[in-house]
Amino acid sequence: MTTHTPNACPFCDARNTVHVPLLEMKHWRLYRHADPTPIAGWMMLAAREHRSGLEALQDLESAEIGLVLRALAKATQEVTGADRIYSITYNEAVQHFHLHIIPRFATDDRTKSWALADFYRSVASGTTPAIDSNEATRIAEKIAAQLRALLPNL
Ligand SMILES: [Zn+2]
Repeated sequence: MTTHTPNACPFCDARNTVHVPLLEMKHWRLYRHADPTPIAGWMMLAAREHRSGLEALQDLESAEIGLVLRALAKATQEVTGADRIYSITYNEAVQHFHLHIIPRFATDDRTKSWALADFYRSVASGTTPAIDSNEATRIAEKIAAQLRALLPNL
């Protein structure tokens, strides 16, 4: 089993250039999915402090995450036009609590339920083209701005 200490954790390593937060809240940081990105608007929400999973969250982090998730889902839906918004958390490869927030489009069966995992692997392997990096950043920055507007005090 791989374990991560805070110094080896990509979310805790200040020198990490792959995971750069687009928005910082009291207890949470918002990122876009690193390249290759399957879907524009695929976001990640991570605890500011190193927490191994849901069970390790502190009271204030737990209290805030519901408000942040609802607002992030609204912002992602408004910016991307997605029909639904998925959220997934494993914390396996990177054992620092983070959620994937994923736009689901009714017109694209690759984004539906567990088919999403196949789509993800296809993009990760290079079989299916990823979203252009600049476009992924542009959409993610719009979502971050919308989230900040929805939650100006967090
Ligand atoms: Zn960490």
